[in-house]
Amino acid sequence: MNYRVLLYYHYTSIEDPVQFAEEHLQACNELNLMGRVLVAKEGINGTVSGTIEDTNAYIDMMENHPLFQGIVFKIDEADGHAFKRMRVRPRRELVNLSLEEDINPHEITGRYLSPVEFMEEMQQEDTVVLDVRNTYEYDVGHFRGAIRPDVENFRDTPEWVQENRELFEGKRVLTYCTGGIRCEKFSGWLKREGIGEDVGQLHGGIATYSKDPVAKGQLWDGKMYVFDERITVPINRVEHVVVGKDHYDGSPCERYVKCSNPECNKHLLASEENEAKHLGGCCLECTKHPRNRYVERHQLPESQVQAVISELEKVWG
Ligand SMILES: [Zn+2]
Repeated sequence: MNYRVLLYYHYTSIEDPVQFAEEHLQACNELNLMGRVLVAKEGINGTVSGTIEDTNAYIDMMENHPLFQGIVFKIDEADGHAFKRMRVRPRRELVNLSLEEDINPHEITGRYLSPVEFMEEMQQEDTVVLDVRNTYEYDVGHFRGAIRPDVENFRDTPEWVQENRELFEGKRVLTYCTGGIRCEKFSGWLKREGIGEDVGQLHGGIATYSKDPVAKGQLWDGKMYVFDERITVPINRVEHVVVGKDHYDGSPCERYVKCSNPECNKHLLASEENEAKHLGGCCLECTKHPRNRYVERHQLPESQVQAVISELEKVWG
């Protein structure tokens, strides 16, 4: 374990994200880091991996930068890189929320809760816990009893919440996400819209909650989806309850694959066996796709593919 994965964000003001991204990429390359960093006028959000020495140098560089005073890094130990390449991309916004009227977390945001405060408050009456991630993230792991907005993407969550306002009426609302960045804005939005009696957010996200010496990830079921090659990581250090369900037969499952249709890419939980049985497609149309990646990867002969498809047509057709 002589590698580390750093997860971080910082809302600040970056005047020229395009130029900043170019320079930042160069600095990351010089430190042999791999990862994915987003830069916007409103700040920075990234995950990078590297050796302990290189990631320490990166932390020093960022902490000494005038724009990033107070930046917090969540650090995971690892036995190698968690990415294949290094990317730094300029973006319009750090989290894809697409609000008509944007939220500046420096002006409005939910109460910050430490892991222990969050653990205590989430168990109190008149409190609802709202997961502000994507549904495929929720499905492999979440806080016990948390609300799962029925949306494909995070940016659709505000609309879903408006339509389901009664769930939050008179309640204290606690939000959580992977590293805390989505909550900064989303909890601010909840406050602005007057949803719930009081709005709190898990400061530092699930990643921090897992490492807290008292909370130890308790009341988290399943695993946490991460946006790198590890795909999921364990959170609850006291007990492990599987909540993920196989896309094909509903049996307990924590193995993520992407639909084999290169134009679909839907995240699926599936056993190796079920993936093979369906050639990795989420539905019949996807399985039949002429560029099915499962078929290509395993170099399956056409006759075998056709045999599987005619079987599936009976079940799915
Ligand atoms: Zn599909």
